[in-house]
Amino acid sequence: MTTTAAKTKSSRLRGVAKPSQPKKSAAWKLHRSGGLQILEAPQLARLDWLTHGFSTRPGGASEVPPAGPAEGAPLKRAASGGAGALNLGFTDWDTRDRVVENRGKFFRALGAGKMRVVTLRQIHSDAIHCVDRADFPAGSDGDPAEAPKADALVTREPHVILAVQTADCVPILLADPKRRAVAAIHSGWRGTLARIAAKTLGRMQMEFGTRAADVIAALGPGIGRCCYEVGSDVVRDFHAQFPEAREWFDGPFDALASGENDPNWLPWLTMRPPGHPPPPPSVHLDLIAANRAILAAAGVPPRQISALDFCTACRTDLFFSYRRERTTGRLMAAIGIR
Ligand SMILES: [Zn+2]
Repeated sequence: MTTTAAKTKSSRLRGVAKPSQPKKSAAWKLHRSGGLQILEAPQLARLDWLTHGFSTRPGGASEVPPAGPAEGAPLKRAASGGAGALNLGFTDWDTRDRVVENRGKFFRALGAGKMRVVTLRQIHSDAIHCVDRADFPAGSDGDPAEAPKADALVTREPHVILAVQTADCVPILLADPKRRAVAAIHSGWRGTLARIAAKTLGRMQMEFGTRAADVIAALGPGIGRCCYEVGSDVVRDFHAQFPEAREWFDGPFDALASGENDPNWLPWLTMRPPGHPPPPPSVHLDLIAANRAILAAAGVPPRQISALDFCTACRTDLFFSYRRERTTGRLMAAIGIR
């Protein structure tokens, strides 16, 4: 991968992360460029006709405001050192100028400084936007009101970079080396439930003749099973949609999936320290595992699917987490054909 920055270097991600990180992430690369740290999926980095990257938090111009009234445990704030945070979303708390500056810095670090950028107004749907020449000059970076309303982008146009924004939801990048097509997907629990990743593959097949067996998939930083507590409604929805859903949840899946209103909470209650309120009847969802399974079921060979497996809520030093911080920035996952 080439970049416009004068001084760049890549390092094994293992070198910057805590020893407790999952082994799977060892193969991902942390590419340093222009003061930023960009995560690269190794199988995508090998394709010289495309550029891609997942942003991280440090190195931008933004200052994430302090957390509001504390709920529960004190929040661990990012240690981005005075350098500021790389917020890439037009959030209420940040200024437009800073976000534009951050985005410019990010795309330059990707070597995509001169490419057309297409972003989305994301709505937690399964809507997919196919980018072609008709999108220009209308759909372009910088004006969120002009961006298409959808949660996935596909294209075969060169010199266009597709970008999705996340802060806990799973960003997914797809590349089809045979047809030279790419996709960027935003997949939270609603998108996952709607199988947006599989539908994006279907759209690539329809538009470009993509075969799922050829596709390389990279699942970037999202909230982990450790931190993503969901309600019983989510359990029931997933149970109704996926025979294997139980594998993606920790907690009393069967009791909640079957709609029992009064499952036996005693085992959970007795595990709580004295004086703490009982936990609500909830379980934890693994969005990465679910999206991995959905892509595999759609025909992408498992060896061609890689996941970072870093939890955004555990690692607010590296990422943004809406669940943990509420007022926070947005990461970007971007991919494009040179
Ligand atoms: Zn976590």
